[in-house]
Amino acid sequence: MSTTTAPTATDQGPWFRLSAEQEEIRKLARDFSDKEITPEVAEHHDREGSYPYEIAKKGWEIGLMNCIVPEAYGGLGMGALEECLIAEELAHGCMGISLSIMANNLGIVPVKLAGTEEQKKKYLGMLMEEPLHCAYALTEPEIGSDPAGLKMSAVKKGDKWILNGVKRWITGAGVSDWFVVFAQSDPEKRHKGINAFIVEKDHPGVSLGKKEDMMGQRASFTCDINCDDAEIPAENLLGEENSGFYLAMRSFQFTRPAIAAGAVGVCQNALDHSLRYALERKTFGTYIANHQGVQFMLADMARDIMAGRLLTWQCAWMCDQGIDNNYEVAVAKLFTADRAMRITDDAIQIFGGYGYSKEYPVEKLLRDVKVCQIYEGTSQIQKVIIGRHVVREMAKKMGIDPKELR
Ligand SMILES: Cc1cc2nc3c(=O)[nH]c(=O)nc-3n(C[C@H](O)[C@H](O)[C@H](O)COP(=O)(O)OP(=O)(O)OC[C@H]3O[C@@H](n4cnc5c(N)ncnc54)[C@H](O)[C@@H]3O)c2cc1C
Repeated sequence: MSTTTAPTATDQGPWFRLSAEQEEIRKLARDFSDKEITPEVAEHHDREGSYPYEIAKKGWEIGLMNCIVPEAYGGLGMGALEECLIAEELAHGCMGISLSIMANNLGIVPVKLAGTEEQKKKYLGMLMEEPLHCAYALTEPEIGSDPAGLKMSAVKKGDKWILNGVKRWITGAGVSDWFVVFAQSDPEKRHKGINAFIVEKDHPGVSLGKKEDMMGQRASFTCDINCDDAEIPAENLLGEENSGFYLAMRSFQFTRPAIAAGAVGVCQNALDHSLRYALERKTFGTYIANHQGVQFMLADMARDIMAGRLLTWQCAWMCDQGIDNNYEVAVAKLFTADRAMRITDDAIQIFGGYGYSKEYPVEKLLRDVKVCQIYEGTSQIQKVIIGRHVVREMAKKMGIDPKELR
């Protein structure tokens, strides 16, 4: 007979669960999503490729936007885990619309990590006073996966930095008031010559490109930022000089969990639609849900959603505990993004011919979620991170000199 006094799953409920406060945040986001991001609204913004200003404003009003801004700067001071709960629920409604509320966090993270007191007060405070937006600008026309080779130049002249170059594919840039921009000050030093700046849209020499006409997440206002002899005040340098690359990489540890959570939200939506349809549609005299071939697809979806959600919560929780999560967040992002392609593809399959029609909601889910394999580091780059980590860990145990590893 067991003598353990530890609570069991049966008498205490599951051992692993969210706090009551986290459940409340999740419910707030779910209710908001159900009310504001209805299938009709999601379909409208997808079809028109229009930015959901009103929904973003409402999300700001109830504290879903900028949720990670610390209380000292007027925010709610939520952690990465709470952010993931919100991101999943909003993406369940529409991942493109969700970005109009969540993408500010991409700009907020580097300021939180490296900003001076004055920078935090000014730029984070600004977001709390009005429903403004900000963005994170690393990628360029010729540079994505290998940001050590950035081409945008930053040259110090007196009390200003002069920036020249283009940033491409910047989520939310078209509606943002400021951006965290990474630029190269010493190309020979590659990653050791990169600086980060807080650039305002109204700084001289800054202009925006046209809204990208994208395959999915069409509500999101993604565009170029052009710097043409842009004059950035010296006090807008973010972090120590030449530390920009490390800031860019460190920021991903805090921002990738919410991308993974968004993918989970889209997948949950795909499963919900698939279940409802499978319990309406009949073939061979019975619901298609009764065919084992269909049930197996539903089972695979449910398994991967649960696994993806737990991986996501784990890496977000690590952020909140101050634990290095570089490996875990790469696993979570890779898993959720890759499985999301399979899950949304299966949802289309379950809908049969209707799944292929824009009249039904599931083809949009596949188009929306595809970019999760691309932005914030492609799936291949996540594999590079994971592969390096496991090889290094074993090499350490085997006493192999790390210099012998790539
Ligand atoms: C909708 C959208 C929104 C975005 N939002 C932002 C944003 O807000 N801010 C921002 O800075 N960027 C943003 N991006 C850019 C995004 O992060 C980059 O597109 C991404 O990092 C890939 O870079 P790339 O497009 O230049 O592809 P490349 O780096 O040219 O890669 C091309 C292909 O080669 C593969 N590859 C490259 N190197 C390796 C390697 N070492 N091993 C194996 N495979 C490799 C890649 O996985 C990919 O399949 C966004 C992109 C999109 C599409």
